[in-house]
Amino acid sequence: MIKIDGSMGEGGGQILRTSLALSLVTGEPVRLSGIRAGRRKPGLRLQHLTCVQAATEIGDASVQGDTLGSQELTFRPRRVSPGSYTFAVGSAGSATLVFQTVLPALLLAEEPSRLVLKGGTHNPMAPPYDFLEASFLPLVSRMGPRVEVELTRPGFYPAGGGRFEAHVKPTASRTLEPLELFDRGPLVARSARALVSRLPSSIGQRELDRVADRLDWSTEELSVEMTPKPRGPGNALICTLEFEQVTAVFSGFGERGVSAEKVADGTIARLQRYLALSAPVCRHLADQLLIPLALAGGGVFRTQALSRHTTTNIEVIKRFLDVEITVQESETDDVEVRVTAP
Ligand code: AMP
Repeated sequence: MIKIDGSMGEGGGQILRTSLALSLVTGEPVRLSGIRAGRRKPGLRLQHLTCVQAATEIGDASVQGDTLGSQELTFRPRRVSPGSYTFAVGSAGSATLVFQTVLPALLLAEEPSRLVLKGGTHNPMAPPYDFLEASFLPLVSRMGPRVEVELTRPGFYPAGGGRFEAHVKPTASRTLEPLELFDRGPLVARSARALVSRLPSSIGQRELDRVADRLDWSTEELSVEMTPKPRGPGNALICTLEFEQVTAVFSGFGERGVSAEKVADGTIARLQRYLALSAPVCRHLADQLLIPLALAGGGVFRTQALSRHTTTNIEVIKRFLDVEITVQESETDDVEVRVTAP
C-alpha cells in the first residue's frame, strides 16, 4: 500500500489524480490523507469524486472514503477494463481532468476505449478542451497510442453541460515510446478563438479586437464561436500557436465584472511570456507530460521555470514508478526535465 500525503507541495487535486492514475497503471493500492489540504475548500469536491468514481469503474476498484469533503481515501484497483464509459461530473467541474485521470491506464490497456465526458470543458485552473486536443494529446499520440477527441458542446462554470468524446487506441505492444522535445520548430499557424455561450457575440469580438490590436494578428486568424444549444452563460478566449514540433494553447475566461479587454490582456500576457523564451513546453504542459514520459520510462523536454504542480507531480510519480526525474536549470529561465529508468 502506497501512502500519499495530499498536503505535500502544491497540495491540490493533482496529487489525487496522479495517485489514482498510477495506482490503476501499477495495480498498487494507495491510501491518501490530507486530500487538497492546501485548498480553500479542502477534501473531495464533485469533480474529484467523479475522478475517483471513474477510476473505480475502470479499475474495478474497492474504495473507502469516497464522499464529498472527504480528506482520506483508500483505493484498491483489481483489473483495468478498457471499453465504453460515460463519466459525468454533474456540475461545471472539469471533465478534462476526469479524462486525464483514467487516460494513462487506458493508453496501456489491451483494447481500445471510447469515453464520453460531461461537465465543464472550459474551466479556469484546469486544461481547457482545446489544450487537450491541440497541445497535450498530439504529443501523447507521438508516443505511440492514438488518442482522438471530439467536442460536442463546451461547458462553462456555473451551468456546465459540456460534452466531449475520446477514442483511445493503445499500441499492440502496450507501451509508450519516449518523447524528446527540445525545440518548437518554425511557427506553422496561429489562431485566436473567442467561445461565447448565451452571451452577446460582441464580448468575443472585443476580445479578438484586442488580440488584433496588441498582437497584430490578421482577421483570418480570428473567430467568434457561438456555443450551440448553450446551457448557460460563458466565455473563453483560446489563443493557439502551432509550431512544427509543439502546439501551445493559452486561455482566458470571461467572468462577471471582468471586461472582455481584461480577459484578452491576461491571455495575451501569457502568450507573450511564452514567446519571450524558446522552450517548447509551457508550464502547464510540463506537469501533464510527466506521467506519459514516466510510463514510457524515458524522455526529455525543455520548459520554463517549473510550477509547483510540476515539482509536486515529480514527487508523486516517483512514489509509484521506478524512474529518475532530473531537473537541470539554466540562468535563462530555461529548464530541462529528463526522465530515465534505472
Ligand atoms: P489542480 O490545481 O491540482 O487541480 O491541477 C490543475 C491542473 O490543470 C494542472 O495539471 C494544471 O497544469 C492544469 N491547468 C490549469 N490551468 C491550465 C491552463 N490554462 N491550460 C492548461 N492546463 C491548465
